[in-house]
Amino acid sequence: MKIFHRVGNFFGAMERVADNAISGRDVLAPPSFVVRRRSLCDTCLLRSGLTCQHEDCGCVIVAKTRLLTEKCPIGRW
Ligand code: SF4
Repeated sequence: MKIFHRVGNFFGAMERVADNAISGRDVLAPPSFVVRRRSLCDTCLLRSGLTCQHEDCGCVIVAKTRLLTEKCPIGRW
């Protein structure tokens, strides 16, 4: 994965978080969401160590799964 693409993905995620925060919407996912998301990532072939290796992601899974504004790039959650 190209580093610039990954950096762009990160800033996109931060923009979504900021939009929610400014609008007064929740930013963090409820604990039950986080548990379910992490269990799906744990069994995913695109997971490598702590990160998702999908070209449209590259995120640190422990952080991505906590954010209500994020979604799995292949629709698993
Ligand atoms: S975010 Fe989606 S594609 Fe990435 S590791 Fe998790 S389940 Fe797999």
